[in-house]
Amino acid sequence: MSEQYDLVVIGSGPAGYVAAIRAAQLGLKTICVEKWLDAAGGACLGGTCLNVGCIPSKALLDSSYKYHESLAELAVHGIQLDSSALNVAAMQGRKEKVVRQLTGGIAGLFKANGVTPLAGAGKVLSGPRVEVTTAANEVSVLETKNVIIAAGSVPMEIAPAPVDNEFIVDSTGALEFQEVPARLGVIGGGVIGLELGSVWRRCGAEVVVLEALDDFLPMMDVAVAAEAEKIFTKQGLDIRLGARVTETTVADGQVAVTYHCGEGEHREVFDKLIVAVGRRPRSEELLSADCGVGMDERGFIHVNDFCETDARNVYAVGDVVRGPMLAHKGSEEGIMAVERILGKHAQVNYETIPSVIYTHPEIAAVGKTEQELKAEGIVHKSGVFPFAASGRALAANDPTGLVKILADRESGRILGCHIVGPSAADLVQQIVIAMEFGATVEDIGITVFGHPTLSEAIHEAALAVDGKAIHIANRRRK
Ligand code: FAD
Ligand code: AMP
Repeated sequence: MSEQYDLVVIGSGPAGYVAAIRAAQLGLKTICVEKWLDAAGGACLGGTCLNVGCIPSKALLDSSYKYHESLAELAVHGIQLDSSALNVAAMQGRKEKVVRQLTGGIAGLFKANGVTPLAGAGKVLSGPRVEVTTAANEVSVLETKNVIIAAGSVPMEIAPAPVDNEFIVDSTGALEFQEVPARLGVIGGGVIGLELGSVWRRCGAEVVVLEALDDFLPMMDVAVAAEAEKIFTKQGLDIRLGARVTETTVADGQVAVTYHCGEGEHREVFDKLIVAVGRRPRSEELLSADCGVGMDERGFIHVNDFCETDARNVYAVGDVVRGPMLAHKGSEEGIMAVERILGKHAQVNYETIPSVIYTHPEIAAVGKTEQELKAEGIVHKSGVFPFAASGRALAANDPTGLVKILADRESGRILGCHIVGPSAADLVQQIVIAMEFGATVEDIGITVFGHPTLSEAIHEAALAVDGKAIHIANRRRK
Protein backbone atom coordinates (compact mmCIF):
# COMPACT_ATOMS: atom_id res chain seq x y z
CA MET A 1 0.00 0.00 0.00
CA SER A 2 1.26 3.50 -0.83
CA GLU A 3 2.33 5.86 1.92
CA GLN A 4 -0.48 7.65 3.79
CA TYR A 5 -0.10 11.37 4.64
CA ASP A 6 -2.05 13.41 7.15
CA LEU A 7 -1.81 16.46 4.90
CA VAL A 8 -0.90 17.28 1.30
CA VAL A 9 -0.33 20.97 0.65
CA ILE A 10 -0.52 22.04 -3.01
CA GLY A 11 1.71 25.08 -3.54
CA SER A 12 4.61 26.43 -1.50
CA GLY A 13 3.89 30.18 -1.53
CA PRO A 14 3.38 32.05 1.76
CA ALA A 15 -0.03 30.38 2.18
CA GLY A 16 1.20 26.85 1.46
CA TYR A 17 4.65 26.78 3.07
CA VAL A 18 3.41 28.37 6.29
CA ALA A 19 0.56 25.83 6.49
CA ALA A 20 2.99 22.97 5.86
CA ILE A 21 5.40 24.13 8.56
CA ARG A 22 2.66 24.64 11.15
CA ALA A 23 1.17 21.23 10.30
CA ALA A 24 4.51 19.50 10.78
CA GLN A 25 5.08 21.42 14.04
CA LEU A 26 1.75 20.06 15.26
CA GLY A 27 2.71 16.49 14.38
CA LEU A 28 0.97 15.98 11.02
CA LYS A 29 2.81 13.93 8.41
CA THR A 30 2.98 16.60 5.72
CA ILE A 31 4.08 16.77 2.09
CA CYS A 32 4.13 19.97 0.03
CA VAL A 33 3.75 19.62 -3.74
CA GLU A 34 5.22 22.45 -5.82
CA LYS A 35 5.24 22.60 -9.61
CA TRP A 36 7.70 25.49 -9.98
CA LEU A 37 11.14 23.98 -10.60
CA ASP A 38 14.51 25.34 -9.54
CA ALA A 39 17.62 25.16 -11.74
CA ALA A 40 18.40 21.68 -10.38
CA GLY A 41 14.90 20.39 -11.22
CA GLY A 42 13.77 20.33 -7.58
CA ALA A 43 10.78 22.14 -6.11
CA CYS A 44 11.39 25.91 -6.14
CA LEU A 45 9.83 26.99 -2.85
CA GLY A 46 8.32 30.33 -1.82
CA GLY A 47 5.76 30.92 -4.58
CA THR A 48 5.05 34.30 -6.13
CA CYS A 49 5.92 36.18 -2.95
CA LEU A 50 9.52 35.08 -2.62
CA ASN A 51 10.38 34.48 -6.27
CA VAL A 52 8.59 37.13 -8.33
CA GLY A 53 6.51 39.21 -5.92
CA CYS A 54 6.90 40.83 -2.51
CA ILE A 55 10.58 40.14 -1.98
CA PRO A 56 12.20 40.92 -5.36
CA SER A 57 10.00 44.01 -5.76
CA LYS A 58 11.04 45.29 -2.34
CA ALA A 59 14.70 44.56 -3.11
CA LEU A 60 14.46 46.70 -6.26
CA LEU A 61 12.43 49.38 -4.48
CA ASP A 62 15.08 49.66 -1.79
CA SER A 63 18.00 49.71 -4.26
CA SER A 64 16.35 52.24 -6.54
CA TYR A 65 15.48 54.47 -3.59
CA LYS A 66 19.10 54.50 -2.47
CA TYR A 67 20.09 55.55 -5.99
CA HIS A 68 17.46 58.29 -5.94
CA GLU A 69 18.74 59.44 -2.54
CA SER A 70 22.27 59.60 -3.86
CA LEU A 71 21.06 61.87 -6.67
CA ALA A 72 18.51 64.03 -4.95
CA GLU A 73 18.25 63.60 -1.19
CA LEU A 74 21.76 63.71 0.24
CA ALA A 75 22.88 67.24 -0.67
CA VAL A 76 20.41 68.75 1.79
CA HIS A 77 22.14 66.79 4.56
CA GLY A 78 25.44 68.35 3.50
CA ILE A 79 26.67 65.24 1.73
CA GLN A 80 28.25 66.00 -1.61
CA LEU A 81 28.86 63.05 -3.95
CA ASP A 82 31.23 63.62 -6.85
CA SER A 83 29.20 61.28 -9.01
CA SER A 84 26.54 58.65 -8.78
CA ALA A 85 25.97 55.87 -11.29
CA LEU A 86 23.54 52.99 -11.39
CA ASN A 87 24.75 49.47 -12.18
CA VAL A 88 21.54 47.65 -13.11
CA ALA A 89 23.28 44.27 -13.32
CA ALA A 90 24.54 44.66 -9.75
CA MET A 91 21.11 45.80 -8.57
CA GLN A 92 19.51 42.74 -10.18
CA GLY A 93 22.27 40.49 -8.83
CA ARG A 94 21.61 41.66 -5.27
CA LYS A 95 17.87 41.03 -5.75
CA GLU A 96 18.57 37.47 -6.95
CA LYS A 97 20.80 36.86 -3.94
CA VAL A 98 18.09 37.98 -1.51
CA VAL A 99 15.58 35.73 -3.26
CA ARG A 100 17.96 32.74 -3.17
CA GLN A 101 18.68 33.31 0.51
CA LEU A 102 14.99 33.34 1.41
CA THR A 103 13.86 30.46 -0.80
CA GLY A 104 16.80 28.42 0.51
CA GLY A 105 15.62 29.38 3.99
CA ILE A 106 12.25 27.74 3.35
CA ALA A 107 13.97 24.56 2.18
CA GLY A 108 15.90 24.64 5.47
CA LEU A 109 12.73 25.19 7.50
CA PHE A 110 11.01 22.29 5.71
CA LYS A 111 13.95 20.07 6.62
CA ALA A 112 14.07 21.25 10.22
CA ASN A 113 10.34 20.70 10.70
CA GLY A 114 10.07 17.47 8.72
CA VAL A 115 7.98 18.69 5.77
CA THR A 116 8.65 16.69 2.58
CA PRO A 117 8.87 18.86 -0.55
CA LEU A 118 7.80 17.20 -3.80
CA ALA A 119 8.38 18.64 -7.28
CA GLY A 120 5.31 18.25 -9.50
CA ALA A 121 1.88 19.60 -10.33
CA GLY A 122 -0.83 18.58 -7.90
CA LYS A 123 -4.46 17.88 -8.80
CA VAL A 124 -7.18 17.20 -6.23
CA LEU A 125 -9.00 13.91 -6.72
CA SER A 126 -12.05 12.68 -4.82
CA GLY A 127 -11.34 11.09 -1.50
CA PRO A 128 -9.42 13.35 -1.03
CA ARG A 129 -6.34 12.15 -2.85
CA VAL A 130 -3.79 14.18 -4.82
CA GLU A 131 -2.48 13.26 -8.25
CA VAL A 132 1.04 14.53 -8.90
CA THR A 133 2.49 14.94 -12.40
CA THR A 134 6.23 15.53 -12.66
CA ALA A 135 7.97 17.59 -15.36
CA ALA A 136 8.86 14.25 -17.01
CA ASN A 137 5.12 13.46 -17.11
CA GLU A 138 5.28 10.70 -14.52
CA VAL A 139 2.01 10.46 -12.62
CA SER A 140 1.55 9.23 -9.04
CA VAL A 141 -1.23 9.50 -6.48
CA LEU A 142 -0.77 10.60 -2.86
CA GLU A 143 -3.11 9.09 -0.25
CA THR A 144 -3.97 11.64 2.42
CA LYS A 145 -6.46 12.48 5.14
CA ASN A 146 -6.49 16.22 4.32
CA VAL A 147 -5.59 18.59 1.50
CA ILE A 148 -4.81 22.29 1.59
CA ILE A 149 -4.91 23.98 -1.82
CA ALA A 150 -2.58 27.00 -1.94
CA ALA A 151 -2.05 27.34 -5.69
CA GLY A 152 -1.91 31.14 -5.66
CA SER A 153 -2.45 33.49 -8.55
CA VAL A 154 -0.98 34.69 -11.86
CA PRO A 155 -0.90 38.10 -13.54
CA MET A 156 -4.07 39.01 -15.39
CA GLU A 157 -3.74 39.73 -19.09
CA ILE A 158 -5.82 42.03 -21.25
CA ALA A 159 -6.53 41.43 -24.92
CA PRO A 160 -5.26 44.82 -26.18
CA ALA A 161 -1.81 44.30 -24.60
CA PRO A 162 -0.64 40.67 -25.00
CA VAL A 163 2.54 40.01 -23.02
CA ASP A 164 5.47 39.12 -25.32
CA ASN A 165 8.07 39.23 -22.51
CA GLU A 166 10.22 41.54 -24.61
CA PHE A 167 8.44 44.84 -25.08
CA ILE A 168 5.21 44.11 -23.26
CA VAL A 169 5.81 42.48 -19.88
CA ASP A 170 3.87 41.50 -16.78
CA SER A 171 5.08 42.12 -13.22
CA THR A 172 7.56 39.24 -13.48
CA GLY A 173 9.15 40.70 -16.61
CA ALA A 174 9.23 44.17 -15.05
CA LEU A 175 11.40 42.80 -12.22
CA GLU A 176 13.92 41.56 -14.78
CA PHE A 177 14.77 44.62 -16.90
CA GLN A 178 18.52 44.61 -17.53
CA GLU A 179 18.60 48.27 -18.49
CA VAL A 180 16.54 51.29 -17.62
CA PRO A 181 13.92 51.94 -20.32
CA ALA A 182 14.00 55.57 -21.45
CA ARG A 183 10.20 55.66 -21.72
CA LEU A 184 8.12 53.23 -19.72
CA GLY A 185 4.35 52.75 -19.91
CA VAL A 186 2.44 51.09 -17.09
CA ILE A 187 -1.12 49.86 -17.63
CA GLY A 188 -2.85 49.90 -14.23
CA GLY A 189 -2.34 52.39 -11.42
CA GLY A 190 -2.84 49.84 -8.66
CA VAL A 191 -0.42 48.47 -6.07
CA ILE A 192 1.91 46.61 -8.45
CA GLY A 193 1.85 49.28 -11.18
CA LEU A 194 2.81 52.01 -8.72
CA GLU A 195 5.57 49.99 -7.06
CA LEU A 196 7.20 48.87 -10.32
CA GLY A 197 6.63 52.25 -11.96
CA SER A 198 8.40 53.85 -8.98
CA VAL A 199 11.39 51.50 -9.24
CA TRP A 200 12.12 52.44 -12.84
CA ARG A 201 11.18 56.12 -12.39
CA ARG A 202 13.82 56.40 -9.64
CA CYS A 203 16.31 54.76 -11.98
CA GLY A 204 15.67 57.51 -14.52
CA ALA A 205 12.85 56.26 -16.76
CA GLU A 206 10.12 58.61 -17.92
CA VAL A 207 7.03 56.80 -16.61
CA VAL A 208 3.42 57.15 -17.78
CA VAL A 209 0.75 55.28 -15.78
CA LEU A 210 -2.48 54.60 -17.67
CA GLU A 211 -5.35 53.84 -15.29
CA ALA A 212 -8.82 53.01 -16.57
CA LEU A 213 -10.67 54.24 -13.49
CA ASP A 214 -11.44 57.93 -12.98
CA ASP A 215 -10.35 57.81 -9.33
CA PHE A 216 -6.80 57.26 -8.07
CA LEU A 217 -6.46 54.33 -5.63
CA PRO A 218 -10.20 54.05 -4.96
CA MET A 219 -9.67 51.28 -2.38
CA MET A 220 -7.64 53.67 -0.20
CA ASP A 221 -9.09 56.37 2.05
CA VAL A 222 -9.94 59.48 -0.01
CA ALA A 223 -7.61 61.76 1.97
CA VAL A 224 -4.67 59.39 1.62
CA ALA A 225 -5.32 58.75 -2.09
CA ALA A 226 -5.49 62.50 -2.82
CA GLU A 227 -2.25 63.17 -0.91
CA ALA A 228 -0.50 60.22 -2.59
CA GLU A 229 -1.51 61.36 -6.07
CA LYS A 230 0.01 64.78 -5.38
CA ILE A 231 3.25 63.26 -4.07
CA PHE A 232 3.67 60.77 -6.93
CA THR A 233 2.97 63.43 -9.55
CA LYS A 234 5.67 65.59 -7.95
CA GLN A 235 8.04 62.61 -8.20
CA GLY A 236 7.48 62.62 -11.94
CA LEU A 237 5.04 59.73 -12.31
CA ASP A 238 2.74 60.87 -15.12
CA ILE A 239 -0.56 59.39 -13.89
CA ARG A 240 -3.41 59.53 -16.42
CA LEU A 241 -6.79 58.60 -14.98
CA GLY A 242 -9.80 57.47 -17.01
CA ALA A 243 -7.33 56.09 -19.58
CA ARG A 244 -8.50 52.77 -21.02
CA VAL A 245 -5.96 51.01 -23.22
CA THR A 246 -7.56 49.67 -26.41
CA GLU A 247 -4.64 48.66 -28.62
CA THR A 248 -0.88 48.10 -28.65
CA THR A 249 1.47 47.62 -31.59
CA VAL A 250 5.09 46.58 -31.39
CA ALA A 251 7.28 47.97 -34.18
CA ASP A 252 10.86 49.18 -34.56
CA GLY A 253 11.83 48.15 -31.04
CA GLN A 254 9.07 50.17 -29.41
CA VAL A 255 5.50 49.68 -28.34
CA ALA A 256 2.76 52.08 -29.40
CA VAL A 257 -0.22 52.26 -27.08
CA THR A 258 -3.64 53.59 -28.01
CA TYR A 259 -5.95 54.57 -25.19
CA HIS A 260 -9.28 56.28 -24.74
CA CYS A 261 -9.59 59.09 -22.27
CA GLY A 262 -12.79 61.10 -22.04
CA GLU A 263 -14.04 61.62 -25.58
CA GLY A 264 -10.62 61.40 -27.21
CA GLU A 265 -8.33 58.68 -28.51
CA HIS A 266 -4.64 59.11 -27.61
CA ARG A 267 -1.37 57.46 -28.57
CA GLU A 268 1.93 57.07 -26.70
CA VAL A 269 5.12 55.28 -27.67
CA PHE A 270 7.21 53.46 -25.06
CA ASP A 271 10.39 51.38 -24.93
CA LYS A 272 8.73 48.98 -22.53
CA LEU A 273 5.16 48.49 -21.37
CA ILE A 274 4.22 46.85 -18.06
CA VAL A 275 0.77 45.27 -17.83
CA ALA A 276 -0.23 45.51 -14.17
CA VAL A 277 -4.01 45.16 -14.29
CA GLY A 278 -4.39 42.74 -11.39
CA ARG A 279 -4.04 39.01 -10.74
CA ARG A 280 -6.32 36.02 -11.14
CA PRO A 281 -6.48 32.77 -9.16
CA ARG A 282 -4.45 29.85 -10.57
CA SER A 283 -7.19 27.25 -10.38
CA GLU A 284 -7.14 25.67 -13.84
CA GLU A 285 -6.05 22.00 -14.06
CA LEU A 286 -6.14 21.85 -10.28
CA LEU A 287 -9.38 20.02 -9.63
CA SER A 288 -10.69 16.72 -11.02
CA ALA A 289 -14.31 16.90 -12.17
CA ASP A 290 -15.52 14.68 -9.32
CA CYS A 291 -13.44 16.06 -6.42
CA GLY A 292 -16.35 18.08 -5.09
CA VAL A 293 -14.47 21.38 -4.76
CA GLY A 294 -16.41 24.29 -6.26
CA MET A 295 -15.22 27.47 -7.95
CA ASP A 296 -16.88 30.78 -8.74
CA GLU A 297 -17.12 32.23 -12.25
CA ARG A 298 -13.81 34.10 -11.82
CA GLY A 299 -11.93 30.93 -10.86
CA PHE A 300 -11.69 31.53 -7.09
CA ILE A 301 -12.11 28.29 -5.13
CA HIS A 302 -15.28 28.45 -3.09
CA VAL A 303 -14.62 28.47 0.68
CA ASN A 304 -16.43 29.49 3.87
CA ASP A 305 -14.96 31.81 6.54
CA PHE A 306 -12.77 28.95 7.75
CA CYS A 307 -11.31 28.16 4.30
CA GLU A 308 -13.23 24.89 4.08
CA THR A 309 -14.11 24.03 0.46
CA ASP A 310 -17.26 22.21 -0.60
CA ALA A 311 -15.40 18.88 -0.26
CA ARG A 312 -14.79 17.26 3.13
CA ASN A 313 -11.22 17.59 4.46
CA VAL A 314 -10.18 19.86 1.57
CA TYR A 315 -9.23 23.45 2.43
CA ALA A 316 -8.12 26.31 0.18
CA VAL A 317 -6.11 29.35 1.28
CA GLY A 318 -4.31 32.41 -0.08
CA ASP A 319 -4.70 34.08 -3.46
CA VAL A 320 -6.70 31.17 -4.86
CA VAL A 321 -9.66 32.13 -2.62
CA ARG A 322 -11.67 35.34 -2.03
CA GLY A 323 -10.23 38.29 -0.14
CA PRO A 324 -7.24 40.55 -0.65
CA MET A 325 -4.33 39.01 -2.56
CA LEU A 326 -1.73 39.53 0.17
CA ALA A 327 0.97 37.19 1.40
CA HIS A 328 0.15 37.62 5.11
CA LYS A 329 -3.57 37.01 4.53
CA GLY A 330 -2.74 33.64 2.94
CA SER A 331 -0.30 32.70 5.70
CA GLU A 332 -2.90 33.33 8.41
CA GLU A 333 -5.45 31.30 6.47
CA GLY A 334 -2.93 28.48 6.14
CA ILE A 335 -2.41 28.38 9.89
CA MET A 336 -6.15 28.54 10.53
CA ALA A 337 -6.80 25.63 8.15
CA VAL A 338 -4.18 23.43 9.84
CA GLU A 339 -5.47 24.23 13.31
CA ARG A 340 -9.03 23.46 12.24
CA ILE A 341 -7.86 20.13 10.81
CA LEU A 342 -6.70 19.42 14.36
CA GLY A 343 -10.06 20.44 15.81
CA LYS A 344 -9.00 23.81 17.19
CA HIS A 345 -11.32 26.83 16.98
CA ALA A 346 -8.96 28.98 14.93
CA GLN A 347 -10.17 31.90 12.85
CA VAL A 348 -8.79 34.83 10.86
CA ASN A 349 -9.89 38.35 11.70
CA TYR A 350 -10.48 39.66 8.19
CA GLU A 351 -11.31 43.13 9.62
CA THR A 352 -7.72 43.80 10.62
CA ILE A 353 -5.63 42.73 7.63
CA PRO A 354 -3.20 45.55 6.83
CA SER A 355 -2.39 46.44 3.23
CA VAL A 356 0.62 48.38 2.02
CA ILE A 357 1.94 50.00 -1.15
CA TYR A 358 5.73 50.19 -0.86
CA THR A 359 6.25 53.42 -2.74
CA HIS A 360 8.11 56.29 -1.11
CA PRO A 361 6.43 57.43 0.94
CA GLU A 362 4.66 54.19 1.73
CA ILE A 363 0.87 53.92 1.82
CA ALA A 364 -0.60 51.65 4.48
CA ALA A 365 -4.11 50.95 5.68
CA VAL A 366 -6.15 48.82 8.04
CA GLY A 367 -9.89 48.73 8.63
CA LYS A 368 -12.55 50.88 7.02
CA THR A 369 -12.00 53.96 4.88
CA GLU A 370 -13.99 57.15 5.44
CA GLN A 371 -15.97 56.52 2.24
CA GLU A 372 -16.83 52.97 3.37
CA LEU A 373 -18.04 54.20 6.77
CA LYS A 374 -20.19 56.83 5.06
CA ALA A 375 -21.63 54.28 2.63
CA GLU A 376 -22.41 51.92 5.52
CA GLY A 377 -24.00 54.72 7.54
CA ILE A 378 -21.62 54.24 10.46
CA VAL A 379 -21.47 57.39 12.59
CA HIS A 380 -17.80 58.13 13.04
CA LYS A 381 -15.20 60.75 13.85
CA SER A 382 -11.69 61.25 12.49
CA GLY A 383 -8.32 62.73 13.34
CA VAL A 384 -5.50 63.65 10.99
CA PHE A 385 -1.87 64.45 11.71
CA PRO A 386 0.53 65.57 8.95
CA PHE A 387 4.14 64.41 8.98
CA ALA A 388 5.09 68.04 8.27
CA ALA A 389 4.50 68.54 12.02
CA SER A 390 6.56 65.52 13.09
CA GLY A 391 9.95 66.35 14.55
CA ARG A 392 11.35 62.95 13.57
CA ALA A 393 10.12 63.22 9.97
CA LEU A 394 11.61 66.71 9.66
CA ALA A 395 14.90 65.57 11.17
CA ALA A 396 15.03 62.85 8.53
CA ASN A 397 14.06 65.35 5.80
CA ASP A 398 11.06 63.14 5.03
CA PRO A 399 8.04 65.19 6.18
CA THR A 400 5.49 64.18 3.53
CA GLY A 401 2.08 62.63 4.05
CA LEU A 402 -0.31 62.14 6.93
CA VAL A 403 -1.88 59.73 9.40
CA LYS A 404 -5.66 59.51 9.54
CA ILE A 405 -7.52 57.58 12.22
CA LEU A 406 -11.24 56.82 12.10
CA ALA A 407 -13.24 55.88 15.18
CA ASP A 408 -16.80 55.14 16.20
CA ARG A 409 -18.34 58.47 17.23
CA GLU A 410 -19.92 57.15 20.45
CA SER A 411 -17.45 54.58 21.79
CA GLY A 412 -14.23 55.89 20.27
CA ARG A 413 -13.37 52.37 19.13
CA ILE A 414 -10.87 52.49 16.27
CA LEU A 415 -12.42 51.54 12.93
CA GLY A 416 -9.56 52.31 10.56
CA CYS A 417 -6.15 53.86 10.10
CA HIS A 418 -4.78 55.21 6.83
CA ILE A 419 -1.27 56.47 6.37
CA VAL A 420 0.76 57.91 3.54
CA GLY A 421 4.19 58.73 4.86
CA PRO A 422 7.60 57.49 5.93
CA SER A 423 7.59 53.91 7.32
CA ALA A 424 3.80 53.74 6.96
CA ALA A 425 3.94 49.94 6.68
CA ASP A 426 5.47 49.58 10.13
CA LEU A 427 3.46 52.40 11.69
CA VAL A 428 0.09 50.97 10.69
CA GLN A 429 0.96 47.74 12.48
CA GLN A 430 0.52 49.56 15.80
CA ILE A 431 -3.11 50.21 14.94
CA VAL A 432 -3.56 46.64 13.68
CA ILE A 433 -2.60 45.46 17.18
CA ALA A 434 -4.77 48.13 18.80
CA MET A 435 -7.79 47.09 16.71
CA GLU A 436 -7.14 43.43 17.48
CA PHE A 437 -7.51 44.35 21.16
CA GLY A 438 -10.60 46.51 20.51
CA ALA A 439 -8.77 49.69 21.51
CA THR A 440 -10.29 53.18 21.45
CA VAL A 441 -8.61 56.40 20.38
CA GLU A 442 -8.53 57.28 24.06
CA ASP A 443 -6.44 54.16 24.74
CA ILE A 444 -3.93 55.32 22.12
CA GLY A 445 -4.13 58.87 23.48
CA ILE A 446 -3.10 57.82 27.01
CA THR A 447 -0.32 55.54 25.75
CA VAL A 448 3.19 56.99 26.11
CA PHE A 449 5.05 57.27 22.79
CA GLY A 450 8.81 57.75 22.67
CA HIS A 451 10.13 61.05 21.36
CA PRO A 452 11.17 61.79 18.70
CA THR A 453 9.61 58.95 16.69
CA LEU A 454 7.47 58.68 13.59
CA SER A 455 5.05 56.77 15.82
CA GLU A 456 4.18 60.03 17.56
CA ALA A 457 2.15 60.82 14.42
CA ILE A 458 -0.13 57.89 15.34
CA HIS A 459 -0.46 59.27 18.88
CA GLU A 460 -1.26 62.76 17.64
CA ALA A 461 -3.77 61.53 15.03
CA ALA A 462 -5.56 59.57 17.78
CA LEU A 463 -5.57 62.66 20.01
CA ALA A 464 -6.79 64.79 17.08
CA VAL A 465 -9.92 62.63 16.80
CA ASP A 466 -11.22 64.33 19.96
CA GLY A 467 -9.56 67.69 19.31
CA LYS A 468 -6.73 67.02 21.77
CA ALA A 469 -3.67 67.01 19.48
CA ILE A 470 -0.79 69.06 20.87
CA HIS A 471 1.44 69.67 17.88
CA ILE A 472 -1.19 70.88 15.38
CA ALA A 473 -4.12 73.27 15.65
CA ASN A 474 -7.19 71.13 16.32
CA ARG A 475 -10.36 71.53 14.31
CA ARG A 476 -12.79 73.68 16.27
CA ARG A 477 -15.50 71.51 17.73
CA LYS A 478 -19.09 72.63 17.20
P1 FAD B 1 1.64 32.04 -4.49
O1 FAD B 1 2.66 32.82 -3.79
O2 FAD B 1 1.25 32.45 -5.88
O3 FAD B 1 2.16 30.54 -4.50
C1 FAD B 1 1.46 29.51 -5.12
C2 FAD B 1 2.43 28.39 -5.41
O4 FAD B 1 1.68 27.27 -5.82
C3 FAD B 1 3.39 28.71 -6.55
O5 FAD B 1 4.70 28.42 -6.15
C4 FAD B 1 2.93 27.79 -7.68
O6 FAD B 1 3.99 27.35 -8.51
C5 FAD B 1 2.33 26.64 -6.91
N1 FAD B 1 1.31 25.90 -7.65
C6 FAD B 1 0.26 26.38 -8.35
N2 FAD B 1 -0.47 25.38 -8.85
C7 FAD B 1 0.12 24.23 -8.46
C8 FAD B 1 -0.17 22.86 -8.67
N3 FAD B 1 -1.23 22.47 -9.36
N4 FAD B 1 0.67 21.95 -8.13
C9 FAD B 1 1.76 22.34 -7.41
N5 FAD B 1 2.08 23.63 -7.19
C10 FAD B 1 1.26 24.55 -7.70
N6 FAD B 1 1.77 40.73 -1.14
C11 FAD B 1 2.05 41.29 0.04
O7 FAD B 1 1.44 40.92 1.05
N7 FAD B 1 3.01 42.26 0.16
C12 FAD B 1 3.71 42.72 -0.91
O8 FAD B 1 4.56 43.59 -0.77
C13 FAD B 1 3.44 42.14 -2.17
N8 FAD B 1 4.13 42.53 -3.27
C14 FAD B 1 3.90 41.93 -4.46
C15 FAD B 1 4.64 42.34 -5.56
C16 FAD B 1 4.44 41.74 -6.79
C17 FAD B 1 5.26 42.19 -7.98
C18 FAD B 1 3.50 40.67 -6.92
C19 FAD B 1 3.30 39.98 -8.23
C20 FAD B 1 2.75 40.26 -5.82
C21 FAD B 1 2.94 40.89 -4.59
N9 FAD B 1 2.22 40.52 -3.45
C22 FAD B 1 2.45 41.13 -2.25
C23 FAD B 1 1.18 39.47 -3.51
C24 FAD B 1 1.73 38.16 -2.96
O9 FAD B 1 2.86 37.79 -3.70
C25 FAD B 1 0.67 37.09 -3.02
O10 FAD B 1 -0.50 37.54 -2.34
C26 FAD B 1 1.15 35.81 -2.37
O11 FAD B 1 2.31 35.32 -2.99
C27 FAD B 1 0.06 34.75 -2.44
O12 FAD B 1 0.49 33.62 -1.77
P2 FAD B 1 -0.07 32.17 -2.13
O13 FAD B 1 0.71 31.21 -1.31
O14 FAD B 1 -1.54 32.17 -2.05
O15 FAD B 1 0.28 31.96 -3.68
P1 AMP C 1 -4.46 46.16 -8.83
O1 AMP C 1 -5.68 45.27 -8.86
O2 AMP C 1 -4.26 46.93 -7.55
O3 AMP C 1 -3.22 45.45 -9.25
O4 AMP C 1 -4.74 47.28 -9.95
C1 AMP C 1 -4.95 47.01 -11.33
C2 AMP C 1 -5.45 48.30 -11.98
O5 AMP C 1 -5.46 48.16 -13.40
C3 AMP C 1 -6.88 48.67 -11.59
O6 AMP C 1 -6.86 49.94 -10.99
C4 AMP C 1 -7.64 48.66 -12.91
O7 AMP C 1 -8.61 49.69 -12.96
C5 AMP C 1 -6.54 48.91 -13.95
N1 AMP C 1 -6.89 48.45 -15.31
C6 AMP C 1 -7.48 47.29 -15.67
N2 AMP C 1 -7.64 47.21 -17.04
C7 AMP C 1 -7.13 48.37 -17.57
C8 AMP C 1 -6.98 48.91 -18.92
N3 AMP C 1 -7.41 48.24 -20.03
N4 AMP C 1 -6.40 50.13 -19.08
C9 AMP C 1 -5.95 50.80 -17.97
N5 AMP C 1 -6.08 50.35 -16.70
C10 AMP C 1 -6.65 49.15 -16.47
